[in-house]
Amino acid sequence: MRDIQMVDLKSQYQDIKKDIDSRIQNVIDSTAFINGPEVKRFQEELETYLDVKHVIPCGNGTDALQVALMALDLKPGDEVITTTFTFVATAEVIALLGLRPILVDVNPDTYLISSSEIEAAITPKTKAIIPVHLFGQSANMEEIMQVANKHNLKVVEDGAQSIGADFVFENGKKQKSGTIGDFGCTSFFPSKNLGCYGDGGALFTNDDTLAEKARMIVNHGMKVRYYHDEIGVNSRLDSIQAAVLSVKLQKLNKYNRSRNNAANYYDQVFSEIEELQTPVRVENSTHVFHQYTLRVLNGQRDALQKHLMDNGVPAMIYYPVPLHQQKAYRDDRYQDGAFPVAEQLAKEVISLPMHTELDEDQLGYITEKVKEFFK
Ligand SMILES: *Cc1c(COP(=O)(O)O)cnc(C)c1O
Repeated sequence: MRDIQMVDLKSQYQDIKKDIDSRIQNVIDSTAFINGPEVKRFQEELETYLDVKHVIPCGNGTDALQVALMALDLKPGDEVITTTFTFVATAEVIALLGLRPILVDVNPDTYLISSSEIEAAITPKTKAIIPVHLFGQSANMEEIMQVANKHNLKVVEDGAQSIGADFVFENGKKQKSGTIGDFGCTSFFPSKNLGCYGDGGALFTNDDTLAEKARMIVNHGMKVRYYHDEIGVNSRLDSIQAAVLSVKLQKLNKYNRSRNNAANYYDQVFSEIEELQTPVRVENSTHVFHQYTLRVLNGQRDALQKHLMDNGVPAMIYYPVPLHQQKAYRDDRYQDGAFPVAEQLAKEVISLPMHTELDEDQLGYITEKVKEFFK
């Protein structure tokens, strides 16, 4: 049996090595390292895949979020609502721009931002919402867009973990995760569902004006070279990463199916273990299982993690501390106990190996080791 890893990028590469190597070699031969034809090609391929009008490639997922907020013309002191149970980047960019992060709690079964908590947190200063499509399924964008429209708020979707997931509206209409709000943002960090071999990210939007603005901001605020109409940043997807992503995009649906197969295998075994709560699938989103995250209900989460590690099974805690309890984001408004669901989850969640190359032997071994712990 191959060594078990949280993410096995090496085995995945073996399978696509020929294509990847030749595409990377082409970039080197062309020396079009920045904004070359590969970037344009990948951009168009992703627009088609997502069925979205504009993809704006950029340097990483955190930049994508920052550029989205910059393009929306938010002013210092404006309030932006997001979840306390997410990766720090989401709140970081809000704070960096001098905006005020307003954190809210999540749903206990899905770990996703609660639409009712969002509505309860709205004040006259609220200008935007950043729902996070955590672990691979979409937050309830239908409800969130209704709240946003009612209160005239902008919506930036953090889709760093959900690329390829479909959101399904009440009327049956499907839209790709990240293409529903004013902007969607994603990350191509190597371990993400569509990962490159370095850093990368992108914004998505169906709004021509916002797209033009974001395109200027990622490029020093200029449309015509050396004429700067906006204060921008330098955030580029390089051509080598775009070439890698172009190859891997062709496999994304297959990759997401492999992840679902592994999740189904886990579910089947773990549904029989009383102390475990398996991931709950929401009705209105497909799941792309960026993470397979269980809740350990008997207080033994850390002991389970140790047992697995001792037996060669990596397991991670996403996330051990909700944002309102992080040193950098502590605030008089948010005492311990402020967000009971997220605080409970931080103590109970554990993420198991989840990637595109897990085989039956490995899944059998991992589930055996989990079962052994609860015997
Ligand atoms: C990975 C991630 C980001 C940041 O992406 P980077 O490319 O690492 O900057 C933002 N939000 C969430 C939810 C993520 O998982």
